[in-house]
Amino acid sequence: MAKTIQAIRGMNDCLPTQSPLWQKVENAVKNTVSAYGYSEVRMPIVEQTHLFSRAIGEVTDVVEKEMYTFEDRNGDSLTLRPEGTAGCVRAGIENGLLYNQEQRLWYMGPMFRHERPQKGRYRQFHQCGVEAFGLNGPDVDAELIMLTARLWRELGIADHVRLELNSIGSLEARQQYREALVTFLEQHIDILDDDCKRRMHTNPLRVLDTKNRDIQAILVDAPQLSDYLDQDSKEHFAGLCELLDAAGIDYQVNQRLVRGLDYYNRTVFEWITDSLGAQGTVCGGGRYDGLVEQLGGKPTPAVGFAMGLERLVLMLETLELTEVRRSVDVYMVTAGEGTLMVGMKLAESLREALPGIRIMSHFGGGGFKKQFKRADKVGAVVALVLGENEVAEGTVVLKDLKGGEQHSIATADVAHALKDLI
Ligand code: ATP
Ligand code: MG
Repeated sequence: MAKTIQAIRGMNDCLPTQSPLWQKVENAVKNTVSAYGYSEVRMPIVEQTHLFSRAIGEVTDVVEKEMYTFEDRNGDSLTLRPEGTAGCVRAGIENGLLYNQEQRLWYMGPMFRHERPQKGRYRQFHQCGVEAFGLNGPDVDAELIMLTARLWRELGIADHVRLELNSIGSLEARQQYREALVTFLEQHIDILDDDCKRRMHTNPLRVLDTKNRDIQAILVDAPQLSDYLDQDSKEHFAGLCELLDAAGIDYQVNQRLVRGLDYYNRTVFEWITDSLGAQGTVCGGGRYDGLVEQLGGKPTPAVGFAMGLERLVLMLETLELTEVRRSVDVYMVTAGEGTLMVGMKLAESLREALPGIRIMSHFGGGGFKKQFKRADKVGAVVALVLGENEVAEGTVVLKDLKGGEQHSIATADVAHALKDLI
């Protein structure tokens, strides 16, 4: 026998037993974004490498160590997308969607990062991203957060996530803050670990979200970003908080929240859960008013977020919210000459009469016992049984697989009898 080939580490199959829960999450996401008038956009999974290094920033974890980058047959450097915003902005500029207009967009699909696989962290994972272009005010920031809050309610996880919020101000304000922070960090250089020492010169704000407790302790006295915010950013943030208060959305302002990608300004936020252990961020986003211009478009304000679908699915599993629509309602059992063909025709007419019903026909022969066993295995709640007698009479036996009762009815009445199953 040939040696079996395995999937790549950190890249998972979604098996038939798991896909119903995924579909539940995906459908909830689609319904929610549609409820706010957002339109779907689909981008390629592969982009030119410099799109990501320019958008996300050279000195970020993603670009420094997590990208799947390769040369194609022409010698061009390509990268499997590690996130969706860069590609979405590229597509928007290239197709003339952003200039002088508003766009409210969403996308969903696989992303790739070469990280150490563990619970809630994979090398191929899935995100849904939502991006709004051309809108300046805090109203759209607030609406995006309200949209996510609605999704958590829809999924039944609202009591298990909390919102952290911050403003990181304008690029200029951050530049000034950065200098003050570096001066402070230099005074504590002996306590910094290697990672923080490196970041201190390349991307000092990232030192703020270090996991090292000793460094966290000294950061208590570090200069605060909020003291360096420009007036416009302060007003924007106050406006956002006011809107969230009015909408009844709880949040905590976290001064250390800076987010890992370079393109953010003003609003940043994360939804965090305690039910997944270390990989607790289920959704993160913020404003990125400079990115469109940075990627060659006209200056265009923008705000968005991305959520990790694996983490949402894991949350539903952890919280035992795994009830899903069954995949088979009715199992068509047939035995005897010519019955299969009649059964398949009946199933077709039921699919027409009852859109959404899920009917599986038994194939491969075998007696009633085998067929009922199979019906049970696929989770059907009703069996329709057709023998030669039923075919001759134009009837069918309807068997309730949960209660056990059965009775014979005219084929013409089956659709009516099954309508409550959908
Ligand atoms: P983390 O702090 O967990 O590394 P991040 O800041 O790198 O997250 P973002 O780039 O903001 O994550 O991506 C948005 C969301 O995508 C995250 O909040 C998370 O839910 C999900 N996500 C990011 N990386 C992974 C991964 N490797 N595997 C699974 N989900 C991920
Ligand atoms: Mg990460």
